[in-house]
Amino acid sequence: MKYYSTRDTEKKNPVSSAQAIKQGIAPDGGLYMPDSVPKIDEKEIASLSELSYTKRAAAVLSKFLTDYKYEELVFSAEAAYSEEKFRGGATGIAALGDKQRVLELWHGPTCAFKDMALQIMPRLLSFALEKTGEKRTALILVATSGDTGKAALEGYKDVDHVKIMVFYPENGVSAMQKLQMISQTGGNVNVCAIKGNFDDAQTGVKRIFSDEEFSDKLNKNGIFLSSANSINWGRLVPQIVYYISAYCDLVKNGDIKLGEIIDITVPTGNFGNIFAAYMAKLMGMPFGRLICASNRNNILTDFINTGIYDRNREFYTTMSPSMDILISSNLERLLYVAAGPTRCTEYMKKLSETGRYEVDRDVFEKIRESFSADFCDEENTAKVIKETFEKYSYLADTHTACALYASYRAENKNAADGRNVKILTASTASPYKFAADVLRSLGKNPDHTDFEVIYELSELTGTAVPAPLAALRDAEIRFKDSVGKSKEDMLKAVESFAGII
Ligand SMILES: *Cc1c(COP(=O)(O)O)cnc(C)c1O
Repeated sequence: MKYYSTRDTEKKNPVSSAQAIKQGIAPDGGLYMPDSVPKIDEKEIASLSELSYTKRAAAVLSKFLTDYKYEELVFSAEAAYSEEKFRGGATGIAALGDKQRVLELWHGPTCAFKDMALQIMPRLLSFALEKTGEKRTALILVATSGDTGKAALEGYKDVDHVKIMVFYPENGVSAMQKLQMISQTGGNVNVCAIKGNFDDAQTGVKRIFSDEEFSDKLNKNGIFLSSANSINWGRLVPQIVYYISAYCDLVKNGDIKLGEIIDITVPTGNFGNIFAAYMAKLMGMPFGRLICASNRNNILTDFINTGIYDRNREFYTTMSPSMDILISSNLERLLYVAAGPTRCTEYMKKLSETGRYEVDRDVFEKIRESFSADFCDEENTAKVIKETFEKYSYLADTHTACALYASYRAENKNAADGRNVKILTASTASPYKFAADVLRSLGKNPDHTDFEVIYELSELTGTAVPAPLAALRDAEIRFKDSVGKSKEDMLKAVESFAGII
């Protein structure tokens, strides 16, 4: 299977999956996509249902990463999703009443769904370096709105031939997320705050990536840049796995019949997670509507409802910071599928020049075939957390709550339309990562401002604090730097970490 950039209009530059994973972003600024979508049928779903998560993962990955040996994929999946790292299984499914199911994706070491991809991606990269005969050190640059940073640091720490540097918006992450990052262990890691928001961090990192002078300089020092952001195909493909695996679990538990359609709601930021669900649907999984849930930053809701993407709007800081985004990078992949590389490239050009584009009618219709969208403001986020806990004794984090809001509304709409389907909501973080906001949503003013607040939440709800978060109490703070949001300031920080002058 070959991979092409979403902006390679003449399909001139095919790369292997190992190359796509090694490079992250394509040289023309586009994202890598496979040249075809492998299929999965009911028979295969039935046989996957009998396998463990790691074997399901290897089976799905092998359809896309065709230059990896099956044994390499099994090895990678087993190391990534071990019992020791994922408490109580790689994923979990909770039932909220008759129609709603919650897919818990936060059993991993950093308590957020990013672990699902970032525990396996470093292993895929290691193999990719070997396969491509790479001798240089990979320097991974990450812009994070909170969860990616920690999950990437945890995945890449002390991996040979790799260094990792993470930029986060100084006031755009929760206290817990910040503590998780600035206390990161490992000899090859660095963490730096920027005086700006997530889009500033992401723009800065993107500009460093496209700085040719800088990449020459790195090259002379035996270093090349690579990305762990969700634009990397190595992030995306492990995310396809859990949608397929969740469906298998529902079949295996007798909750649904093989072939039964389910809808899926995803709390969305960079559009990576929901795009993985779309890939699974394109493969042939019986998925009905894919519901894109946003918070008050509802740029994607507007896009999916009107076909107009317009980032010229106010940016809000919310209690679901991982969804506080005005540029959703992976949306480019959907445009590529729906519009082809030429129009995709045009839209992206318009976006960077004017901050706005409108897709053609046929593209809009193609998107509407699979997607719908909804958004949840701060008040309703709190309300959903409270009502979900009262009604189902289920504690949802702020991101999951936004999605549940959309799922509950979709359930009502489905009932009105006579559509009898279950809705699977992706739950992307442990409530303990956002303990203060979850407590406030439950109607209690937290007594603590620091991470002690997790014990208040535990006491109030009778649920357990995840062990990796409890361990932060005694963690040493290692990273205190904060720099300006300009590319130049960020570049200086990178150079100093990489040890080049
Ligand atoms: C990253 C993240 C999201 C958004 O996922 P995308 O793939 O960027 O759309 C949602 N919720 C949480 C908790 C996250 O960490």
